[in-house]
Amino acid sequence: MKTLPPLPYGENALEPVISAKTISFHYGKHHKAYIDNLNKLATGTEYEDMPLEKIIVETAGKPDKAAIFNNAAQAWNHEFFWNSLNPNGGGEPPAALKEKIEASFGSLDACKKELAAAATTQFGSGWAWLALDGDKIKVIKTGNADTPLAKGMKPLLTIDVWEHAYYLDYQNKRADYVNAVLDKLVNWDFAADNLK
Ligand code: MN
Repeated sequence: MKTLPPLPYGENALEPVISAKTISFHYGKHHKAYIDNLNKLATGTEYEDMPLEKIIVETAGKPDKAAIFNNAAQAWNHEFFWNSLNPNGGGEPPAALKEKIEASFGSLDACKKELAAAATTQFGSGWAWLALDGDKIKVIKTGNADTPLAKGMKPLLTIDVWEHAYYLDYQNKRADYVNAVLDKLVNWDFAADNLK
């Protein structure tokens, strides 16, 4: 059985970039539903007590396991997303991460631009990520529940670009949501910890 992990801050802590109303639905309804659905699907199976990361890797790309993959991946992605945000986020990454970003993208600004472009151009529901692929930091985007974990990469940071992540606050203006998250909330310390 999996339980809904606690939100790492209050529901109103990300205002005004993300409203308490958005968080209450996104965390309390959407994220919770993925956990509840996963428990329904996994109870009594080999997946019941398996860590989310292992369920994701074992079910990825298997059409008969799509429901369990989707719910396990969304459960993992959302916990990772909450940790990718910080009420006092934005600004500059810690030195070790900044150096690695500059080695891969030329500058922090170029990295943020590429991440914003991936988040804005992901067609339909999905995610934009900073991920470690071998020794290189890359920007990638994934559709629906898909995650870099299923592709053998190590996620560092993510932005949820499903409409439920921003529609109450930004309606169709996804780019405004993405740019505000990158400027004000992005948790570079969390991304740096994931490099280790
Ligand atoms: Mn979401």
